[in-house]
Amino acid sequence: MSTLDFDQIVALDAEHVMGTYARLPVAFVRGDGTRLYDVDGREYLDFLGGLAVVSLGHAHPEITAAVAQQAATLVHVSNLYYNAVQPQVAATLDRLLGGDGRVFFANSGAEANECAIKLARRHGQLHGGPERYHVVSAYGSFHGRTLTTLAATGQPQKHEAFQPLPSGFRHVAFADCDALEVALDERVCAVLLEPVQGEGGVHPAPPGYLEAVRRLCDEREALLILDEVQTGLGRTGRWFGFEHADGVRPDVVTMAKALGNGMPIGACWARAGVAASFRPGDHASTFGGQPLAARAALATLEVMERDDVPARAERAGERLTKRLLALRGVTDVRGPGLLVAAQLAADVDAGVVARRCLDAGLVINAVTPTALRFAPPLLVTDDEIDRAVALLEQVLDEVMNG
Ligand code: PLP
Repeated sequence: MSTLDFDQIVALDAEHVMGTYARLPVAFVRGDGTRLYDVDGREYLDFLGGLAVVSLGHAHPEITAAVAQQAATLVHVSNLYYNAVQPQVAATLDRLLGGDGRVFFANSGAEANECAIKLARRHGQLHGGPERYHVVSAYGSFHGRTLTTLAATGQPQKHEAFQPLPSGFRHVAFADCDALEVALDERVCAVLLEPVQGEGGVHPAPPGYLEAVRRLCDEREALLILDEVQTGLGRTGRWFGFEHADGVRPDVVTMAKALGNGMPIGACWARAGVAASFRPGDHASTFGGQPLAARAALATLEVMERDDVPARAERAGERLTKRLLALRGVTDVRGPGLLVAAQLAADVDAGVVARRCLDAGLVINAVTPTALRFAPPLLVTDDEIDRAVALLEQVLDEVMNG
């Protein structure tokens, strides 16, 4: 591999990579914990964590060692055969989710949701007849970019360029139980929700909502699928975002982002009785759950359990929230644990602030035009939180003083 400078990277990218991302002007080449380093050796505090992915921090020594050892042993075998790592990850996830479930492994969040939607359709049609295949999700949601998960995503502006999308998807207002009740007819096989709408602006489900959705799903014989791709595995201060609700047990849970601490792996967990609707040949993935990615996931889960990482995320989130609330220009802070959005005063452009923060050495993102998102590694230290907030304070002062 050649060593390229920043301008060479940008030129090569412009010429050969599809233009689907409006990239910011930095190329990262190395990471260490909560720090990132660009191609010129400049250090940044990473308060985005690869978008809620690198939950144990960059280059965590135990994950690196596990991946290196597995890479030197066996990277890949077909899912036509057993591998020794995949069922251990499945067993751990199943235990964390309360047991009596089965897991399908994919490579991303969208694929985990694709699996959940196919499973719900199969289950609905087997138990409720050929018309029971509709999925209800919420406006403002984000479930992925494949055609099916895009159809489930409740952001009509993202649909426009890709019509016709697969049929069988309906949307209701998030947190509106009456609207959900109306939408849940006998043709609905599942309700698909995020416990905290992440991409939609970091909007947590209000108290009582998931409990009410669970009751409605039971009444109408619809499955409750929770998309924990962004919220899962400690991010919100609990293992899963739904654990903030009282006694809610979903039928299906999807995960990805944090599962491999950066190695691409996604998972769809379902209650055993639901998972049984899939037969051999109904769903598959060449790479899903291959030994290398699965080993990263196993090591990640081991460290998270041993070090009680969700509890650390909860404590760090409280500190971050408190510090952010004290800043001039921040009108509100929302989100549990370390999935946090700072709402800015109406005249402050979050895109401009995020860009200036990057220049100042702090990686965050504008999740809406007026809100900043923070999703740092869950092992972030108090000192790193204080330094990040001090950088943001400086930038906000500069922006607000014109
Ligand atoms: N679901 C949620 C809640 C997400 O936040 C995302 C990505 O941001 C996805 C699904 C899609 O995941 P991926 O980009 O890995 O396909």
